[in-house]
Order: sequence, then structure tokens, then C-alpha cells
Amino acid sequence: DAYLGAIDAANGSLNAYIAVTHDKARDMAKVSDEKLVKGEGGALEGIPLGIKDLFATEGVHTQACSHVLDGFEPCYESTVTANLWADGAVMLGKLNMDEFAMGSSNETSYYGAVINPWRAGGSNKQLVPGGSSGGSAAAVSAWLCAGATATDTGGSIRQPAAFTGTVGIKPTYGRVSRWGTVAFASSLDQAGPISRDVRDAAIMLKSMASVDARDTTSVDLPVPDYEAAIGRSVKGMKIGIPKEYRVEGMPADIEALWQKGIAWLKEAGAEIVDISLPHTKYALPAYYIVAPAEASSNLARYDGVRYGLRVPGKDIIEMYENTRAAGFGREVKRRIMIGTYVLSAGYYDAYYLQAQKVRTLIKKDFEDVFAAGIDVILTPATPSAAFGVADEDMANDPVKMYLNDVFTVTVNMAGLPGIAVPAGLDANGLPLGLQLIGRPFDEETLFQTAHVIE
Ligand code: GLN
Repeated sequence: DAYLGAIDAANGSLNAYIAVTHDKARDMAKVSDEKLVKGEGGALEGIPLGIKDLFATEGVHTQACSHVLDGFEPCYESTVTANLWADGAVMLGKLNMDEFAMGSSNETSYYGAVINPWRAGGSNKQLVPGGSSGGSAAAVSAWLCAGATATDTGGSIRQPAAFTGTVGIKPTYGRVSRWGTVAFASSLDQAGPISRDVRDAAIMLKSMASVDARDTTSVDLPVPDYEAAIGRSVKGMKIGIPKEYRVEGMPADIEALWQKGIAWLKEAGAEIVDISLPHTKYALPAYYIVAPAEASSNLARYDGVRYGLRVPGKDIIEMYENTRAAGFGREVKRRIMIGTYVLSAGYYDAYYLQAQKVRTLIKKDFEDVFAAGIDVILTPATPSAAFGVADEDMANDPVKMYLNDVFTVTVNMAGLPGIAVPAGLDANGLPLGLQLIGRPFDEETLFQTAHVIE
């Protein structure tokens, strides 16, 4: 009731939730109460969570914040949410996001922008919460849920976490089942939690992760007790500092934050090692070929026949055209066009195949440093703090928006786990995050190290 009341009071100004499931939340909470009284509670019994609109939730609004999925209420539950409910969590509602998870500011949502609960000192200017999991990050930051599910294809968990002073982890590709999560770029997508602190993220990820026969890319490895990693010493651990992440034009506040993170880990007994990831600068352009290519293929299913919106036409072709023209927003259409172009005959070799080769080189950069003994890599999470809503520079130049992902996309391209952890405030009092990148399936070391920083 406290969380539902907080949502009802604050959501009008934040727009973090696009559907609040009052009755379902109360019903689920009642079941949890009964279990807890009998001492039968699961790991998340009674914990109220917000769910990104990308996850299929049975009988509940699931539209990936797109007009094209109008009225879609799935008859099945995603594996991630089913796992959370099985452990006793309670659903508060569905959270706003960029349409089909494409964006870095949560402004491409059909349901309008999410407003960051943070403000720069002395200013009333509205800021974005980041994207695409902007609703998740804003809701956690404003206490409108105890934790939230999110997804990350190129940074959509870590960048909004950094912009809102919350914790967000993108697990290793394969750690979490993608079944029932609306697909954006299938070889990059992973779900993970956004939470208030590192311990909550550890508890939530344990529940979300599982091998699943319905997602053949999910991996059959035991899910460790991540919470047990918290509080372990980082003494003797080797922390890599990649020189390529010192990008041109990076604000002094971000550089200072990075140095602070280095100092904290050194003080805790870790060894700091300068490293090189030479192909870093190719990650962003390669990502913006691979991701739209996969998206253009995944979005082919929204044709007005199978789901949601249907705009009639004189024949079936015109019905497809009318539905897709009206149903998709500008950014999604841009991705479909880029993706279709780079996959088309004559351009495939020049763009898509080339991007896949670059992806292999990026992955190899990481493999080399881990093989040389590095345990964790420390970088800033974003190249800036949260920016303004309807920022003109960003609106007029999509590439400026894409540059926001410069520190996060490499991790998806390599399939590695990455965590964003709040590490301080900039000169205007806005939160900034650091990112830790780990070995495949070694999320434990990320939780262990992140806890030293938070
Ligand atoms: N901002 C990136 C994009 O627009 C990443 C989005 C995401 O991780 N879902 O593609």
C-alpha cells in the first residue's frame, strides 16, 4: 500500500509507470503475507517490484511502449518475471521505456518521456533518466518500487542507473533467459535488475537467472549465491584501467570520479594495472550496424495480423504499410531502415559482415586482458551526467545520442557482464556512475568489487 500510494502521488510528474496493477499487487501481497506467517516465504517474498514493459506479463499490458502493440496482453509470462513471482515478488505495474528499447533518454516511448527525479542544484530544469530502462531507473530512484527489471542491449541498464544514482547490472549473455522478453537485437539483449544498492541487485539477479529450454542461448551453469560475494575483500585483485576509455571531450567531473574509484580500490588492497583494449573505438559504429540489423529482422513480425494495432487498407499489402507507418515511432523506423540497408544484397559484406568481424576483435581484446590476469576492468559508466529533456543537440543529431553508449556497448558486443554503481555527484549535484566489467559468468566478482565502491 505504501508503494502504491507513492506511485499514485508521484507518477503524474515522473511518468515512470505506464500501467499500475493495484489489484494484482494487493492479491500477490496477500498471498505473500500468508506464506510469511507460515514461515514459507521465498527469497523475494512480498518484495514489490516494477517490471519494464518489455517483459511479457500474463494478462497485463505488454507493449514495449510502442503504438504497434496496442492492446497486447500476452497469454504467457516471461521466464524472468515467472522466476521472480516464484520467489514471492509482488508486481506493482509496468514501467515506461524507449520504444522497443531503442534509445538513451526514454524519449522515444509512445507514452511520453520519463522525468528523472534528480535536479541539478539550483535548477528546476527537467532531466532525462537515461534509456532505454528510464522508467525502471526513475522508479527505483524515487522509491516507487523496491527494485525493477530492466534490459540492456547496448547500455540500457547501466546508463539509466548511472543517471539516477542506482545500481544496474547487465549479466553475461546467456545468464538470463530471453524467453518472453520482446526482442530488440537478439545476440546482444540481456535482462538484469536495477536496484537501490549492490546487495539488492545480487539478490534479484539470483532470482532472475536460470537456464531455460525455451531460450537455447541461456547457459546451463549453476547460479551462485551472489549475495555471499558482498563483503569479500578485493585485496590482491587486479583491476584494469583501459586507456582507450579516456575519450576526447570527457568532462573533468567524470575523469575525477574515475580517479576516485581507482583510489578506493587501491586503498582496499587491489592492484591497479594500465591496460589497452585497442579496438574500443570501433565498438560504437559496429554496434549501430549489428543492433539495427537484428532489430529490422525482429520487428518484421509486427504486421497488423498477429498482434496489436491494425490500420486497414484496400488490400493486405496496404494494410501492412498503414499499420507499420502508424505503429512505429521515428527512432524505430530509422533503425529498421538502417538494418534493412546493411543486410541487403551488395551491402551485407561491406557493413554487416565487417561489423561482425570487428565484434570478434573487440571480444578478443577483452579475452587477452583477462588471460593476462586482470580480474575486473574499471571505467566510467557514461561520458556525462543526465542531460535535459528535449535537448536540442540530441534531437537534431541522432549520432550525439548514440555517443552516450560509448562506454557500455563494448560489453554487449563481447557478451560480458557489466555493472554500473553510483560513485558520487558532479559539480551540479547530479549522480555519476562507475562501470565494472568482468569475466564471462563471473558476476560474483562484480558484486564483490562494486560493493567496495558504492
Ligand atoms: N542506447 C542504445 C540503443 O539505442 C542501447 C539501448 C539498449 O541497451 N536497449 O540502441
